[in-house]
Amino acid sequence: MTTNAELKNRRLAAAPRGVGVMCDFHAAQADNALITDVEGKQYIDFAAGIAVLNTGHRHPRIVKAVQEQLTHFTHTAYQIVPYESAIALAERINALAPIDGPAKTAFFTTGVEAVENAVKIARYATGRSAVIAFQGAFHGRTLMGLTLTGKVNPYKAGFGTMMSDVYHVPFPTNGVSVDDSLDAITTLFKTDVDPRRVAAIILEPVQGEGGFNPVPTALFEGLRQICDANGILLIADEVQTGFARTGKLFAMEHHTVKVDLITMAKSLGGGMPISGVVGRAEVMDAPNPGGLGGTYAANPLAVAAAHAVIDVIAEEKLCDRAVQLGERLQARLKTIQSKDAGIAEVRGLGSMVAVEFRNADTKAPDADRVNAIVKAALANGLLLLTCGLYGNVIRFLYPLTIEDALFDKALDIIEGAIKG
Ligand code: PMP
Repeated sequence: MTTNAELKNRRLAAAPRGVGVMCDFHAAQADNALITDVEGKQYIDFAAGIAVLNTGHRHPRIVKAVQEQLTHFTHTAYQIVPYESAIALAERINALAPIDGPAKTAFFTTGVEAVENAVKIARYATGRSAVIAFQGAFHGRTLMGLTLTGKVNPYKAGFGTMMSDVYHVPFPTNGVSVDDSLDAITTLFKTDVDPRRVAAIILEPVQGEGGFNPVPTALFEGLRQICDANGILLIADEVQTGFARTGKLFAMEHHTVKVDLITMAKSLGGGMPISGVVGRAEVMDAPNPGGLGGTYAANPLAVAAAHAVIDVIAEEKLCDRAVQLGERLQARLKTIQSKDAGIAEVRGLGSMVAVEFRNADTKAPDADRVNAIVKAALANGLLLLTCGLYGNVIRFLYPLTIEDALFDKALDIIEGAIKG
């Protein structure tokens, strides 16, 4: 049997440390909300491949859809020889996405590629170049992605000059109000950038890596006004929030404000790599033919998986399930919080739930405690992820298809790990 220790040694020798790896065990098998490692140990998966598996590992419908597609073709390059499944997927997303008026969708492969392309589309459509993003945001690791990202370590540090014409403003959390955020943009227009040069404002409807902080509706309303007054496009990065995680197919459905462009990835593919940008048709149509795309964009296997994901979300009512599971988790965490002064906040939207730890006396972010809890949970067979600018937040990203008994078992492990 290959052991985890052997694989770790080989991994350290063969792969660069820059691709940081969290776990010391290696996957051999995964089924719905369980991962089994090469030594046969099982873990309840509350990471879901970083929010990719809202429909669980190897959902039978998704596996079947991919197998079926394998018998036809795996790749033609959509830009060379297109196929109906990709057209139909765009049609479905156009009908489902909260975009005003006619919509169009373009597919890519990774989340950050969707972000890059949303920015390119916004630049082309407006003929402007500047982009405003938020402190604490995460938009990916390519050069534009990490420039937009509002966290220096480990994403920006050491990687040289960032892309020009990107500006960050404070996100409304930790004492920053919505008015503070909006005022910062007004100030930016006075001190740094002419609003007539700004192509887009981009933000996550719930800041993900930044700490699972939902955007208040008032911020979206204020941003929409600023955008409309200045001819700026508003982009929602739904790479992490999309596909039922927050209790809606798109988190923007929690708000009446409509954005111009939405990025999506992760759970769209249920484990297959696919991303996309949906937006107002006239904006999406701005770039010239050939300006958008990619060799693997709209990969047929991933497209087949995405169709099955959308079917499963509807048939298994995963938006409702996200709300129910999120409520159960928040209730449990709030009960623990009532006797634990180190828990600063339990928050979330649907099943995008987080718990934040701060020193009870000093109120300083308590990343050490978070790391100890994650370690204790892992030792008891539960995989948890952290987030937050200071690493003092635990986020919960279980598959929405998780069995009730397994979910309850995980809640017990969480309670045990927090109580220590
Ligand atoms: N945007 C957001 C909001 C994300 O959460 C992520 C990934 N965590 C990305 C973009 C980048 O996606 P990918 O890693 O697939 O490039």
